Amino acid sequence: MKREKGLLIVLSGPSGVGKGTVCGALRKHDTHIRYSVSATTRKPRKGEVEGINYFFKEKQEFERMIAENELLEYAQYVDNYYGTPRQYVEETIAAGHDVILEIEVQGALQVKKTFPEGVFIFLMPPSLKELRSRIESRGTESKDLIDSRMTVAKDEIELMDKYDYVVENDEVESAVERIKSIVTAENCRKERL
Ligand code: 5GP
Repeated sequence: MKREKGLLIVLSGPSGVGKGTVCGALRKHDTHIRYSVSATTRKPRKGEVEGINYFFKEKQEFERMIAENELLEYAQYVDNYYGTPRQYVEETIAAGHDVILEIEVQGALQVKKTFPEGVFIFLMPPSLKELRSRIESRGTESKDLIDSRMTVAKDEIELMDKYDYVVENDEVESAVERIKSIVTAENCRKERL
């Protein structure tokens, strides 16, 4: 049974919870889901590749994209802009493919307003202590930046009630299995057929 429109899956949760790792693992398991690449004004980290991890933009260019309504959502997160290019998402869903967005909470809540039929999944850390140690072990942020990310994370966790599903990322493979089950179930919902 082929649905006319694909699902919009929004995977959100605090920075450091492992959204990227979970998405990467999901990608290995599942070839049918398409991945939206975000735009950001953050500078690339070592190993990040333009067009694969992000589209890296200057602030002026990002603000032009906002002004011309090229972004489905965007947020300012710890001194940088992050946003989802609209065209890829709209075209991919219209072609009947499921798309996943890996975004922070403010952006996810914006998408919920424009795409209430989306599937909103909150990825939860086992604890705040574990979250901090995951960010520290990434070794990419200074102590001040880690403190800012932890402050944002506490506010983000308070918003988890706004999501359809909460998945604890205690262990990557089991989080991936739960997300795959959610996507399978959502694809079988009779309202979507
Ligand atoms: P990072 O700097 O660690 O790559 O990302 C910082 C935060 O921004 C993470 O929580 C990440 O999921 C989020 N993020 C990445 N892309 C987007 C986007 O397009 N929109 C929004 N709202 N957040 C994003």
